[in-house]
Amino acid sequence: MVVVMAPEATQADVDGIVDVVRDAGGEAFVTRGVSRTIVGLVGDVDQFGSLNLRSRPGVLDVVRISVPYKLVSREHHPNRSVVQVGGVPIGPDTMTVIAGPCAVETPEQTLIAARMAKAAGAALLRGGAFKPRTSPYAYQGLGEAGLKILADVREETGLPVVTEVIDPRSVDLVSSYADMLQVGTRNMQNFALLQAVGEARKPVLLKRGFSATIEEWLMAAEYIAQRGNLDIVLCERGIRTFETATRNTLDISAVPVAQRLSHLPVIVDPSHSGGRRDLVLPLTRAAIAVGADGIIVDVHPEPEMALCDGDQALLDSDIRELASVAAHLPPLMGRTLTPPRDVSPRDTSAAPAPVG
Ligand code: PEP
Ligand code: MN
Repeated sequence: MVVVMAPEATQADVDGIVDVVRDAGGEAFVTRGVSRTIVGLVGDVDQFGSLNLRSRPGVLDVVRISVPYKLVSREHHPNRSVVQVGGVPIGPDTMTVIAGPCAVETPEQTLIAARMAKAAGAALLRGGAFKPRTSPYAYQGLGEAGLKILADVREETGLPVVTEVIDPRSVDLVSSYADMLQVGTRNMQNFALLQAVGEARKPVLLKRGFSATIEEWLMAAEYIAQRGNLDIVLCERGIRTFETATRNTLDISAVPVAQRLSHLPVIVDPSHSGGRRDLVLPLTRAAIAVGADGIIVDVHPEPEMALCDGDQALLDSDIRELASVAAHLPPLMGRTLTPPRDVSPRDTSAAPAPVG
């Protein structure tokens, strides 16, 4: 059950709802949006019925939501949302490209990859400083030193930074450098981490667990929303199936299904889905055609030397084609490619590649 507060509701009105719900043995979570405040109720819904919440001061509406994810559901919020990341929108009218190296390795590698990203039409830079590797012997990332490199490259190129956080204890640290916090596939049901990013004042990119159903993915998003953060973007990154020709199977139907069930933007990761460079452009076309709100792509100046996921990283010679796909396909879907935000970066050498 969700209580929607009227625009003119006071803090005392909101506190009043929280108090009566708690007195009745329930729990209430307050989420403040730009235009309205909502209070999500957890507990015995029938018992809340007797509280007459609708007639309390400051209450606009009380909505019973049938699905187990409420705040992120379209039942609760019929219009699709736009999430702003450092001044760059991700939402229903645009196609936002996020690109960069899988892992931050050196300042030079990250800067060159960011220039490749920008030339491909990216408005946001990706790059992992904390890497959640399946093997404990694989490269684990540079940690805070990697975050500093990302911040320097943002300064140089003007691209806001999307980077992964793998532990609730480092959410504050990662938030102090990042424009968007990524929760990876292996952590989709790390509930302590979801709650911690829900309390952070940064947008969150929530990747689908590789063995998670769409409903489980939306319930994971609900953990973040319940803590007051509704700036969530969902990312389909491939699921585990019997197929061995690809690293994962891109569940392309998850995009329209999730968009129908949830108001949150949904993007696709064609790099981690296929795990193969030759599949990235075909899967990018499929993602745009199915109506994704964005893509997140690995690029690397020297993939054969990459410390992580080199097989799927696009090369410099692929960038022109990615730029062409990103410029030409979205208009056919009624969208425009999100341009880089309007700032004057120090580095002007990374103009988008001419597309033809
Ligand atoms: C990544 O984006 O670098 C990553 C580790 O992705 P995933 O969590 O989808 O494997
Ligand atoms: Mn990777």
